[in-house]
Amino acid sequence: MQIGIVGLGLIGGSLAIDLKAKTPHKVTGVSRRQVVCDRAVELQIVDDASVDFSSLEAADLVVLCTPIQAIVSTAERLLPHLRADAVLTDVGSVKQPIVEHLAPLWPNFVGGHPMAGTAHQGLEAAVGNLFVDRPYVLTPSAATPTAAVERLRQIIQPLGCVIYHCDPVIHDQAVAWISHLPVMVSAGLISACTDADADVFRLAQAIASSGFRDTSRVGGGNPELGVMMAQHNRDNLLRSLQTYRQRLDQLTDLIEQEDWQALEAALRQTQSDRPGFVSEL
Ligand code: NAP
Repeated sequence: MQIGIVGLGLIGGSLAIDLKAKTPHKVTGVSRRQVVCDRAVELQIVDDASVDFSSLEAADLVVLCTPIQAIVSTAERLLPHLRADAVLTDVGSVKQPIVEHLAPLWPNFVGGHPMAGTAHQGLEAAVGNLFVDRPYVLTPSAATPTAAVERLRQIIQPLGCVIYHCDPVIHDQAVAWISHLPVMVSAGLISACTDADADVFRLAQAIASSGFRDTSRVGGGNPELGVMMAQHNRDNLLRSLQTYRQRLDQLTDLIEQEDWQALEAALRQTQSDRPGFVSEL
């Protein structure tokens, strides 16, 4: 089969590397800039690459890997070039607005979200094995042909990912809690710490260690990605932030009231809840 990857950045490039290494399929890249196409071929990330969508006329599957705000407009320009039975998917980290736009335009569209990444961007950041043991969420609707979902599943299975199926609305609510809320919480944490008095601030910077590293990591990432999450998943993120603010207020009240027993009970509860989300320490 021929697989098209549109957008040769971190995710598109990493997908291409693994599809080339782990499947028998031919991988064709499409990027906005010829220099990126040439570099992708030089690095052997793709078999061939072009700035022209017509290079995907024979593709069996095309994966849209542009930033979220460009996925729908890119798809609209791509669709006239595709075979009628080609399967189209995307990797955007928000699903409902994309599925709503593209499912009516292309019956063989299956929304997707590989939940893997690094702090880096662009083709040079692409790496092999990025998706091993990571969730890869598919969001087909009841109307999506089973054969389209099955073709996508068969192609991504060899990447070593763990495939989940869910409704795009539920997906967006879930990522608001476990991906988008943590970015804002972590950003708020870093920002709050800069309020410390000069001497305290200098010492805090010097002695910040693993606890701060863990809790500040996602707040210190790419600002454009954070803004995109807030723009495209605004209502779900706002609901999560409001609940988070209530929980902070409850913890603050317990400390003000010196209700150490209740505080311990609250922390015991979070200690036992955490392994349900992530297994490692
Ligand atoms: P990236 O490294 O910045 O790559 C984006 C790619 O899209 C580049 O090839 C870029 O082309 C192209 N592009 C940028 N702006 C465009 C535009 N306006 N129109 C058409 N193409 C454009 O980004 P990424 O991290 O791979 O993210 C790509 C997608 O993956 C996003 O939809 C994101 O939600 C999703 N995602 C990201 C992560 C993550 O952790 N990064 C995880 C899961 C899913 P040029 O090289 O020509 O600039």
